[in-house]
Amino acid sequence: MLPLLRRAWAAAVTSSSSSSSCSSRPGSRRCSLGACCSYRLRDALHPLWQSPLTIPGGTRQSPINIQWRDSVYDPFLKPLKISYDPTTCLHIWNNGYSFLVEFDDSADRSIIIGGPLENQYRLKQFHFHWGAVNDWGSEHTVDCKFYPAELHLVHWNAVEYLSFEEAVMEGNGLAVIGVFLKLGARHEGLQTLVDALPAVRHKDTVIEFDVFDPSCLLPSCPDYWTYAGSLTTPPLTESVTWIIKKKPIEVDEDQLEAFRTLLFTSHGEEERRMVDNFRPLQPLMDRTVRSSFRPQLSP
Ligand SMILES: [Zn+2]
Repeated sequence: MLPLLRRAWAAAVTSSSSSSSCSSRPGSRRCSLGACCSYRLRDALHPLWQSPLTIPGGTRQSPINIQWRDSVYDPFLKPLKISYDPTTCLHIWNNGYSFLVEFDDSADRSIIIGGPLENQYRLKQFHFHWGAVNDWGSEHTVDCKFYPAELHLVHWNAVEYLSFEEAVMEGNGLAVIGVFLKLGARHEGLQTLVDALPAVRHKDTVIEFDVFDPSCLLPSCPDYWTYAGSLTTPPLTESVTWIIKKKPIEVDEDQLEAFRTLLFTSHGEEERRMVDNFRPLQPLMDRTVRSSFRPQLSP
């Protein structure tokens, strides 16, 4: 989390309550962290989340469970257009919660447009969330199913706002593409990143990482769900248009294990592995998840 965001979070969060349940139908598997995951998992959560936190009065918090059959096909949703300039990639930073691959966002060089978005958005950074084991790790779930990891590509609305920090506080400020990672074949595009991870094992380490095109991490299938949500790390502001890709990408066990060799801790501190760096599910409340595809055509 950016230092600036930490300060904003401290100002924004003034109370806490438990809200980790996701809705479930009778007979379906429950997936709230409190209901179906062990105390071992909850105990393993990052200190950031050992006390449940919400934005007071928040009505569009993330992540959520996406109930496939409850999502509504919207024929007016356009295809998402993605245009990333690999030379805008700057560095990789272990921020003590994930590793961030950050981009030069001073001009419209790596951008997305279309989909549910009314403006063009600039790529700021991407990062992942993952579990200690392959049974969980994603932030969003689909029909209460966790994936072992989830990629977030974070963009901001540079048409309406002057800076990322300003956009973070506004309802249409950010657009985040979420991509699930599932266990399968080795992902060659991801391997370039994996090879760089030993150099950012400790918190607060940064390395140069120039020339990388994150579109190699996106599934070729254009289908997505979209809903209005929030950041899943402090300041938890309700500024995100989420675009969750329907199809996961495949990565192999060694690549997930490489994520798990990173540390939450700095040089000289007692080592704590960077795992389970996800926020618990939040209630859907009065929101609709729209899909860009017809549910009946899907498996
Ligand atoms: Zn994230």
